[in-house]
Amino acid sequence: MRTFDCCCGNSLFFHSTYCISCNRNTGMCPACNRVVPVIEEVDGICRCGNPDCGVEVTQCFNGETNDFCNRLVVKAELENLCDYCTLTTVIPDMPIAGNYEKWKRLEQAKQRVLYLLDQIGLEFRGVDENSEPTLSFEFKADAEKPVTTGHKNGCITINIREADSVERERSRVELQEPQRSLIGHFRHELGHFFWDRLVRGDREVAFRVLFGDERTPTYKEALTNYYQKGPALNWTSNFISAYATMHPWEDFAETFSAYLDMASVVDTATHFGVTDSGIQDFDAMLKSYSRVGLIANEFNRDMGLLDLVPQVFVQPVVEKLRFVHGLRKEV
Ligand SMILES: [Zn+2]
Ligand SMILES: [Zn+2]
Ligand SMILES: [Zn+2]
Ligand SMILES: [Zn+2]
Repeated sequence: MRTFDCCCGNSLFFHSTYCISCNRNTGMCPACNRVVPVIEEVDGICRCGNPDCGVEVTQCFNGETNDFCNRLVVKAELENLCDYCTLTTVIPDMPIAGNYEKWKRLEQAKQRVLYLLDQIGLEFRGVDENSEPTLSFEFKADAEKPVTTGHKNGCITINIREADSVERERSRVELQEPQRSLIGHFRHELGHFFWDRLVRGDREVAFRVLFGDERTPTYKEALTNYYQKGPALNWTSNFISAYATMHPWEDFAETFSAYLDMASVVDTATHFGVTDSGIQDFDAMLKSYSRVGLIANEFNRDMGLLDLVPQVFVQPVVEKLRFVHGLRKEV
């Protein structure tokens, strides 16, 4: 993630709620899409402190009552919750110990992913009658019925167990995944959401050329098959991950997730002057990611951590990533 500037010259971070240097309140302004100081005028009106923006803002209800949302609400819209928080329709049961922390981790991972979507022009809001399905999030715990993390008709459900790092690591080892993170879950499930919104009915022919036919075998058959037999031995020559071999929809979601990983890392690297590619040109971005990923992997190995970029980008995978890139609209 990039950093932002306070009017006092200090750096602000993505989740900053105040500036540690000048003590001003800070927040993410949805109008200019950056973390800004909030300037309170004599009459009590609060404005975005970016001189090029200056819209009247209020705090999100989840910033006022809980400490995990710094996204501001444009005053004219008269909403209590910001446009990100309002998408969460089911939150964990708060009287249960530990659930507040889980909710906070889930929302903060979600905020990072949605911010990136805004940056790269993948529209997730309901903009018109053609914007189907409508996006929402449910954060649920296992009860009588176990909760499966997944996407259905625009609704992304995350099992809150995934917000417990010990549980998540256990699953990662069991499933032999090179990485498992909350942010990764959001990116993967959003892949299913964007398939429904941007590929279904519009780009299916081009999709099938790269990812295969999603109709045969059916998803259910593919699922049973995968858990009986596992991935094909030579999967690395065509797929981004073992799980991507399960069905073309999972291949797309895994590729979409890897694309967002790439865009966020290269945006950060560009912001800090590590590379100058930016994230508009696909080939330049991919080239930067390969180089930055190699260096970051060595940093992580220096520290005994898992690789930042565990994937290998063989040519068929590159073409699938390029397909995802083509879904972006100009911003
Ligand atoms: Zn400041
Ligand atoms: Zn602003
Ligand atoms: Zn909020
Ligand atoms: Zn999936």
